[in-house]
Amino acid sequence: MIKMGMYDIIDGITVYCAKCGKIVTNDFQTKDIKRPFLDHYKPGDTIPEDREFGGSLEIHSICEHCEFFVSVYIKIIDNKVTTELE
Ligand SMILES: [Zn+2]
Repeated sequence: MIKMGMYDIIDGITVYCAKCGKIVTNDFQTKDIKRPFLDHYKPGDTIPEDREFGGSLEIHSICEHCEFFVSVYIKIIDNKVTTELE
């Protein structure tokens, strides 16, 4: 299920692997922001209005401990990235 194409990178989100329970430290990627282009966002960053989407972002990564595919949703409030998981 590897898809080609661009994505953006979300830094600074603490997520525990659903399989091994350790913190996932690899970068999280998302394709939910319009016109993804390897931009980095972290909690508190504002997503530009012309790249808006909906109220949450699906972000995913691979656990470096057990190689599990980790996917979570984070809330976007007032166009700002938050650390809140849905
Ligand atoms: Zn893991």
